[in-house]
Amino acid sequence: MNQIQNTGENINFLRNVFRKYYFENNHFPYLYSIEKREFGYRKFDSLVVRHLSFNNVGELVAELVRNVPLDIYYSNAYYGLPSNPINEKQWEGADLIFDIDIKDLDLPCIHEHTYYVCNLCGYVNSERKQCINCNKGKTYDTSIPCKRCFLSIKKEAAKLLDFLYCDLGIKEKFVEIFFSGNAGFHFHINDPSIRNLDSNSRANVTDYILGNGFMCESIGVRKYRNGFVIKLPKSGIMTGWRKKIASNLGINQKSELKLKNIVEASGGYEGFRNELNKMTRNNGVPIDAQVTNDIHRVFRLPGSINGKSGLTKAKCDDLESFNPNNDACMLSDSEVYVNPKTKLKITLKNNTFRLDNALEKVPSYVAAYLICKGLASISNAQ
Ligand SMILES: [Zn+2]
Ligand SMILES: [Zn+2]
Repeated sequence: MNQIQNTGENINFLRNVFRKYYFENNHFPYLYSIEKREFGYRKFDSLVVRHLSFNNVGELVAELVRNVPLDIYYSNAYYGLPSNPINEKQWEGADLIFDIDIKDLDLPCIHEHTYYVCNLCGYVNSERKQCINCNKGKTYDTSIPCKRCFLSIKKEAAKLLDFLYCDLGIKEKFVEIFFSGNAGFHFHINDPSIRNLDSNSRANVTDYILGNGFMCESIGVRKYRNGFVIKLPKSGIMTGWRKKIASNLGINQKSELKLKNIVEASGGYEGFRNELNKMTRNNGVPIDAQVTNDIHRVFRLPGSINGKSGLTKAKCDDLESFNPNNDACMLSDSEVYVNPKTKLKITLKNNTFRLDNALEKVPSYVAAYLICKGLASISNAQ
């Protein structure tokens, strides 16, 4: 977990820019049925407060301006009594939520922009191990996602949309996409007809999107004695997962012979099964199953600031044109001095900043980003 280093000055600075953000505008137009949600937040000292409820956005904003939390969460569930203990809340349903994150993509570029920050002294180490500065602290990873990271995660987001619209038949008007504020995207589905799905049904949806349980037999390849036989399913192979795999294999309903050749070329039933596993992994979307299956979870509030980055959880209306470091960067641009802890480059609000280990004057949104990432400290040098 990230920790805001050097407490006093850094925290004061962040609290001031966060408070300004919450005070100046209403950032919560995508918060529905507020009176039925449980709210929670994490303070700057890491303490978590839960089981809060608000009757309207005004009450919520007043709390945020007064207490200025680091992170704010709300329940996907609708409750009759949201501020009661968990078993006495009167659950009335929950939005279906999907979460995808850059860290689950195993991208080769991650190493180029990951830093290892000491949890005690804040020193930026070059490796993940005990801190070489204080010899006591352990390091936590912090990353500045690059263009390739965002392109890759947007590709997964587009695949997920295809699952939602085409395979699951969810209507576009019920799907809202948000940038998480750090390294992922959240999909909120507020279709009243699926609010009542229990955890098991949600797990089935998760398995489907991950491609779990898709077998050779699903596409018509069956084990037979020491070999295999082909029998394409009568219900066809041109819908859902079968269609995805069929198009990968370049086959259709009449391709029994071609499929037989493909299976033989991949070394028979077992070899084909390995190929198929790779194919389902590539065609599935690496959603976080725990997030989707939980019907009592709290999620980062759309419109709130992500304490890991100082960026906001922003609505994304068009995946292709959405630029996280621009469209979700909403903090003040008044200038402050920071001490960067390492050499780094960051582009925010279409401005590129190249920083060395030296004192530097930067807009507040850059300072907030770097302090949240553990990569700089505010300086009183001004
Ligand atoms: Zn240290
Ligand atoms: Zn990257």
